[in-house]
Order: sequence, then C-alpha cells, then structure tokens
Amino acid sequence: MEARTDTAAAKVSLGRILRLFRPHRPRLAVVIGIIVVSSVLGMASPFLLREIIDRALPERDVTLLVWLVVGMVAVAAVTSVLGVGQTWIATTVGQQVMHRLRVDVFTHLHRQSVAFFTRTRAGEVQSRITNDIGGMQAVVTTTATSIASNLTTAVATAVAMAALSWQLSLVSLVIVPPALYLNRRVARMRKEITTRRQQELADLNVVIEEGLSISGVQLSKTMGTGPALIERFSASSTRLIDLQLRSNLAGRWRVAAMSVILAAIPAVIYLSAGLPPTAGTLSIGTLVAFTTLQSRLFQPLMGLLGIGVSLASSVALFARIFEYLDLPVDIDDPVHPVELPSPVRGRLCFEDVTFVYPGNKTAAVSGVSLDVPAGSSLAVVGETGSGKSTLAALIVRLHDPSAGRITIDGIDLRDLRLADLASVVGMVGQETYLLHTTVRENLRYARPDATDAQIEQAARAAQIHDVIAGLPDDYDTVVGSRGHRFSGGEKQRIAIARTLLRDPRILVLDEATSALDTSTERAVQRAFEELARGRTTVTIAHRLSTVRDADQIAVVDHGRIIETGTHDTLVSVGGRYAALAA
Ligand code: ADP
Repeated sequence: MEARTDTAAAKVSLGRILRLFRPHRPRLAVVIGIIVVSSVLGMASPFLLREIIDRALPERDVTLLVWLVVGMVAVAAVTSVLGVGQTWIATTVGQQVMHRLRVDVFTHLHRQSVAFFTRTRAGEVQSRITNDIGGMQAVVTTTATSIASNLTTAVATAVAMAALSWQLSLVSLVIVPPALYLNRRVARMRKEITTRRQQELADLNVVIEEGLSISGVQLSKTMGTGPALIERFSASSTRLIDLQLRSNLAGRWRVAAMSVILAAIPAVIYLSAGLPPTAGTLSIGTLVAFTTLQSRLFQPLMGLLGIGVSLASSVALFARIFEYLDLPVDIDDPVHPVELPSPVRGRLCFEDVTFVYPGNKTAAVSGVSLDVPAGSSLAVVGETGSGKSTLAALIVRLHDPSAGRITIDGIDLRDLRLADLASVVGMVGQETYLLHTTVRENLRYARPDATDAQIEQAARAAQIHDVIAGLPDDYDTVVGSRGHRFSGGEKQRIAIARTLLRDPRILVLDEATSALDTSTERAVQRAFEELARGRTTVTIAHRLSTVRDADQIAVVDHGRIIETGTHDTLVSVGGRYAALAA
C-alpha cells in the first residue's frame, strides 16, 4: 500500500480536487468578490499616504489631512469587516467539503467486502478518516482562500507600484529568482516528509489498536509482549519527532532566507533613489508609499510560496483519500435486482459452488451442491479447517463464490439487493459484536421499530431474559466494550434474540466451538431450537450431539461434501460420519 501511495500521489489531478468544490461555486464567487474588493480598497492607503507626505503636511492643509487620515482608518475598518465575512463563508464551504469527503469515504469503505477488512490493518482505516481528512482541513479552509487573497493583493500591489514608479518596480524584481528556487526545494522536501509522516501516524494508530483495544490488551498481557509493544510505540513516536522537526525546519529556513532578502530590498530602493542618475526624480511621498507597497507585496508573495509548499504536501493527503474512494466494490447491489417472491419460501441451494480465498492456492470450498428445502434443517459437520464457516459466509454474501451459484427460491444471491438478502437470511456466528450502549439498544439494532415488549419477548425466547433482569439496570445496563461483561454463551443468546427480532426465513447458525457448561449449553440449545422453529436452517455443528435431529447432515472434508443423509442413514452406511459418531 505504501508503494502505491507514491505513484497515486503523482497522478492526483487538480481537476478532481476542484470538482469537490463545484457544488459551492456561488459562495466561492462571493468569497472571491470580497477578496478583490478588499485588496483594491487596501491599495488606496499608500496613495493617501503619499498625499499626506507630499501635500497635506508641507502645505499645512488641516482639512485635507483630516480627510486623508479618516480615509486611511475607514479603509482599514472596511477591509477588516470584509475579512471576517470572507473567513465565515470560506470556512463553511471548507467544512462542508470535508464533511462530504468523510461521509463518502465512510460509505465507500462500508460497502467493501470483509475481504478488504481482513487484509487492511485495523488502525489504517481510522487513520485515513481522521488524520488524513483532518490534515486536509487546513488546506481546504485556509489555503484556498489565502491563494485568492494573496494573489489579488499581490497583483493589485504590483499594479499600484508600477503606477508610482516603474523603475523602482523593476529593481524590486530581483527577489523573484531566489524566492522561486527556495520554494521549489522546500516544497519537494515537505511533500516527501508529509507522505512519510502520514504513514508513521497510521503505524502509530495500528499500535494503539493492537495495544489498547480489549482483545489486543488481553493478547499482549497474556503473552507478556507489553514491553515490546511500548517499545514499538515509542520508536514510532520518536520517528514522528524527527519528521516533524525536519518538516518545521524546512519551512523555517525558507522564512529566514526570505527575511534577509526582504530586508535588503528597501535598502536597495533607497540607494537607487539617492544615486546620482536618479536623485531628485522621486518625491519623498512616492518613495515612502512605494516602500510601504513593496513590503505589502512580499507578504502575499511569501504567503503564496508557503501555500505552494502546503499544497504540495496536501496533494499526498488527497491521494491517500482518493485511493480509498477508488477501491472497487466487489460485493455490491446488482444493477438489475430481482424481486423476491412474496412471501419468501426459503429454499436454499448450492449449485456446484467453489470458493478460493484471495491469495490462497487451494479452494476452501469446492464443488459443493446442496439442496435445503424450505423449512428444513441442514447440519454441516467436519473437522476444523474443512470449510464449514466459509460455507456459512457464502450464504450471507460475505464472499461471492469463485464458481457456481447459491440460490434462494431459485434466485441467485448476486441478483438480490443486499438489503433484501439481509432481511431473508439471519446469521448467528461464533463471535457476537455488541455495541457500547444499553442491552435494549443492542437488541433494537436488529429492528429499530421494535417495542420494549417485543424486545423482552425475544429475550425470553432466547433464554437470556433472566440474565438481563439480573443486571444492575436490567435492559438499560450499558454493555462493556464489545460486550466483555457477558460470557460467550450469554453473548450468543443475545445474538439469537437479535435474530429473532429480525425474523428471517433462513437461518445460518455457527455453534460456539468453545465448550459451554452443561446448563448454559442447554439454555443456548433451547434458544437455538426456538429460533429455528419453522425456518430453513443451516447449522455449522461443532459437536455431534446437536445434529441428530437435522433433516439432512452434510459431512465436509477439505472443502468437499463427502456424505449427505440423515443421522440414521449415515450411521448405517458406516462412512466418515459413522466413524465420527461412534
Ligand atoms: P472451518 O469453519 O471448517 O473450521 P473454515 O471455513 O474457517 O473452516 O476454513 C476453511 C479453509 O479456508 C481453511 O484452510 C482456512 O485456513 C481457510 N481460510 C479461512 N478463512 C480465510 C481467510 N480469511 N483468508 C484465507 N484463508 C482462509
């Protein structure tokens, strides 16, 4: 991913960045209007100053002096007020662009299949959404308006300077070549540093995720890897110090060099005004007004150069964001979705399904054909790693088959809207993700319009009501981070209650692998039976005790179905199942 970022940065088009601002054109036009008006207004002061020095003061014309002075103050007041308005509009536009980007990235990543999240480091995604988009904020809100304001001020000042004295204006041009040279060097350095810093920040996030998430803390505490993690965090943080230092110094050197050049220019101007060939051709007022203008010219010029630098580094940020936005969505809604029959019957078929995990050499599931009639039950048994969970994942479209197809009532899953599929198929996996909120809200997540009575009914059916009733605030108790206050069996029953609320026609159940104590196991089993009643069910069985009553048992081995039948027929055949059951 790192290597790709560099090439992507080179290809980011300015057009694409500008397109983000297109919806805000009217307001941007107002901003530019304000900028032009205030920079033109600002130009009036040096001319007022020249009049004060060359006329009002020597001629002791008090009325003229008062008018000129009032004019100077008025110009300052008006431009300041305009500046506030400009900041307000520009910030609003900038924030809206950021908001759009954040939401787009979030939405787009959410559409990615689980395969994406399996191969992406945990902290990486968070880092891009928070750090990278946050980093662009400065560019979008401040930089864009400074470009406009600095540019107009620079142009207006240059015009005014030329009007005062074109000869002195030419002298002032000596600053341009060294300034441009400095700028290009610093820009290149900054860009490289920014790219590296964002990577380093992403690394830091990964360490935070690995070290400070509940699962990560447990792993490192039990493995005794705490010191190593701290070491890694510290090393990553140290590298950040260095990068930040280099980044700031690069900018500081440029400012230092420019300050020297800036100080030299008025000196050169006074010198050229006093040298024999030109001496006496310029009034004192013109000279003072000119040096005032000239100092005003270099401030926006410096600003523009600085923006060049921060623009260069922000292109790297845009590149990383666009890279995410450009990720193809591999599992998406079909272009021409097929409607499910109403009511859905719930017949589930695998037709010669093969699936290879990306990057794997061998198929996790190969040539699987299964027919699960509506309302019947299928139990899948087999050794660990035989492909049972993969079969379950294919039914809910966490992956799509590499070959073959899976159908519900004869319709290919890929022809269904994802939302339709989710309403028809419910899954209770081994791992139950609970949100950090109340038990009630966790249950309601499955069905936002569920009443409290329905929620309690589902909890009772899932054999978890008594456990919840025993909590400090029963249904309003806040679940600990990822549900760590619940045992595995309890979490699974909460998941069952959630699925009951959704009321899907087809159920995919992945039994817990870890042994539960007998009473918990019985409760979970009863909950599963309650859930399965009247529905098509596919159970990934890890213990044979639970499969006896299934209408159909499929034995998988290395991704293939090697036997199917009922408990009795399979036992009488005397094959693999009979050996397992013996
Ligand atoms: P079971 O549920 O029967 O234990 P799985 O379906 O989890 O088996 O795994 C089947 C095979 O697929 C195994 O060889 C496993 O290593 C592989 N596998 C599972 N998940 C992934 C994954 N995300 N990426 C690559 N290979 C995987």
